[in-house]
Amino acid sequence: MAAQILDGLKLANTIKDQLREEVQHLKNNSGAVPVLVNVMTGMDSRAATYAQAQKRVAAYIGIRYELAQLPLHISQQEFMDHIYQLNEDKNIHGIMIHKPVPHQINYRQVANCVDTLKDLEGINVKNVGRMLLGESKLIPCTPAAVMAHLKAAKIPLRGKEVVMIGHSEIVGKPLSLLLLQEFATVTICHIATSEARRLEEHVNRAEILIVAVGKAGLVPGEWIRPGAVVIDVGINQVGEKIIGDVVFETAQKRASLITPVPGGVGPVTVVMLMKNGIEAFKIQMQVKDGIRV
Ligand code: NAD
Repeated sequence: MAAQILDGLKLANTIKDQLREEVQHLKNNSGAVPVLVNVMTGMDSRAATYAQAQKRVAAYIGIRYELAQLPLHISQQEFMDHIYQLNEDKNIHGIMIHKPVPHQINYRQVANCVDTLKDLEGINVKNVGRMLLGESKLIPCTPAAVMAHLKAAKIPLRGKEVVMIGHSEIVGKPLSLLLLQEFATVTICHIATSEARRLEEHVNRAEILIVAVGKAGLVPGEWIRPGAVVIDVGINQVGEKIIGDVVFETAQKRASLITPVPGGVGPVTVVMLMKNGIEAFKIQMQVKDGIRV
């Protein structure tokens, strides 16, 4: 039997409607709405499309979304000064930094300049540390989107064999922590797992398989344990098409639930960014249960 598709667009729409209602409520109570800034250096067509998509979602929810376009040849100090200015600005509630940044910029250093209360992507090392302790309110957006999918589909995590392929700072590592907080038994695979030719055996065991690598066809459907839940985070441009890291056609025949690419994790990720924006706004405005305290 073919797997049930975890429809990211549908889930994103449901969460967007909830957030829209919440922003309206906050506006009625505080007279203000969250204002988010995307800091970009230069602007290629891909970055422009990405920003447009974010802006559209923000507008629907009722959030103000601004672009801060910095010159491509900006120095490290100028970049950091710009972030400090945004930190100081009481009318700005959330900051994100578009990647990749130009080669002369030390991304880690810039990320650590973002005020921890305005850190939309949860990239400041202090927020990363808080996440480790399970104390952060600003969770990186893609991991949050995967967790939202699992929650919406009511997938139990406690004691489950979860195999996470990919150990990047923005997806694999933080997501593994979130899964661990739910008492899943998490195995993290990466490039060296493939080099050791052991990826297949780990995939075979997975009751929940999450793949975030960026290699089309990395996981053939035949490797997947019958009945597994498969979340494909990968985005690969192959010719005119966008596809994931899992071979969807064969995986769909073995999995019980599977996210498509596109239309799986991606749409929910953008919404999670907005959710963080609302959270950041509430922290800064000291709103509790919808009321300013
Ligand atoms: P990254 O390049 O930072 O990390 C890639 C990870 O894959 C590393 O852990 C690396 O060790 C591992 N890897 C590489 N080759 C491998 C192999 N042959 N076998 C096993 N592991 C291997 O990537 P990232 O930023 O985490 O992004 C991963 C993918 O997810 C990309 O396709 C990216 O476009 C996509 N992505 C999607 C969203 C979304 O919202 N849907 C968000 C972020 C990233």
